[in-house]
Amino acid sequence: MSLSSLLYAKAQTIIPGGVNSPIRACRGVGCEPVFIESAKGSKLYDVDGNEYIDYVMSWGPLLLGHADPVVHEAAKAALDRGASFGAPCPAEVDLAAKIVSLMPSVQMVRMVNSGTEATMSALRLARGFTGRDCVLKFDGCYHGHADAFLAAAGSGVAAQAAPGTPGVPAATVAHTIVLPYNNLDAVRETFTAKGRQIAAIIVEPAAGNMGLVLPRPGYLEGLRAVCDEYGALLIFDEVITGFRWGLGGAQGRYGVRPDLTTLGKIIGAGFPVGAYGGRKDIMEKLSPTGPVFQAGTLSGNPVAMAAGLANLCELEKRDYAALEAATREFAQEFAAIIRSKGIPVTLNHAASAFTMYFTGRPVEDMAAARTSDAKIYAALYRQMRDQGIYLASLGFECSFTSFAHSQTDFEKTLAAAKKVTF
Ligand SMILES: *Cc1c(COP(=O)(O)O)cnc(C)c1O
Repeated sequence: MSLSSLLYAKAQTIIPGGVNSPIRACRGVGCEPVFIESAKGSKLYDVDGNEYIDYVMSWGPLLLGHADPVVHEAAKAALDRGASFGAPCPAEVDLAAKIVSLMPSVQMVRMVNSGTEATMSALRLARGFTGRDCVLKFDGCYHGHADAFLAAAGSGVAAQAAPGTPGVPAATVAHTIVLPYNNLDAVRETFTAKGRQIAAIIVEPAAGNMGLVLPRPGYLEGLRAVCDEYGALLIFDEVITGFRWGLGGAQGRYGVRPDLTTLGKIIGAGFPVGAYGGRKDIMEKLSPTGPVFQAGTLSGNPVAMAAGLANLCELEKRDYAALEAATREFAQEFAAIIRSKGIPVTLNHAASAFTMYFTGRPVEDMAAARTSDAKIYAALYRQMRDQGIYLASLGFECSFTSFAHSQTDFEKTLAAAKKVTF
């Protein structure tokens, strides 16, 4: 029995499902997880001594690769000065200044400890600022696990949402409206009916949690216009796209300015960090300058702030266009190999992220994403992992490349893909 299997057996007796986040259990792809001992650059090493080329990269944070030396030196030096102060520290000011200088719409920013906290707090702020209760989100967009966002679309456009999981009271999602992504008409219709009750639209400006789904031309501009017409706030959840779509995130790339932005993943470089920021007049409504309460014992943690700052400073020196071109070429070849085996593939790609859907349809929303054949993905996942290639343990996820991935990594991956059978 492998050490991973032994650990998994033990873990299942004392941790629900053996994991601290459900997707790690690999149930969707029909196998057990591997337990990771260490990681470096583009590679993961499991407890049984197997090496993997990683396309998950901790689900997005590690754009420089695993254990980046610059990030780690900064974190170690900060740790030696103390793990937490519960008082302001210089690094949080420096990281805030860096984010404000890079993200086009962000004038002020508040640090939290996860993406979930960022979106939950941004929603509270939007409600406090507008004095309205409703929030509009899109089917297939993930905004963390706060109750208000764990809503399933009701039947019929603009119907009241249903709880997305047991444990969420119907009353908690009574103010959440769920609409299909990339459909402006549904948004306009909803605003015509109840626009003055809607505090905010929250959207992934490119959706990375139903696989990768890109915004149609004019979609984000249309959301901006509707919000302006009805006095609602536009929140871009850039937890994935922030600093991956470019140093200015998706808002820099697509040229649309949200009122609030939520960040996570890359800003912490692997440490637990989230942030939300935006227009100064809105952010100043937060306590202690304003009435909207939000707090955190470990927020602005000095080690995480030092790592995040070093990460962004290092990313400023990197060639995003080159990584995007290399990723596109790699993803196109990967998709061509799978197609050559008689499997239909729709490839969505942007920046250093891509998703292959095993369907003949274009994928522009969750309904289309659901037509992807999960059995094909599971077969691909298992055979690639057996050959030392680590893909996401669910088909509805982005694959991520990083600045640590080499042409040799891509060539090995494509060689492994050629051997897969369906
Ligand atoms: C991952 C993610 C979150 C949640 O972040 P956590 O750090 O897991 O709480 C929120 N929004 C988006 C778009 C994400 O991808």
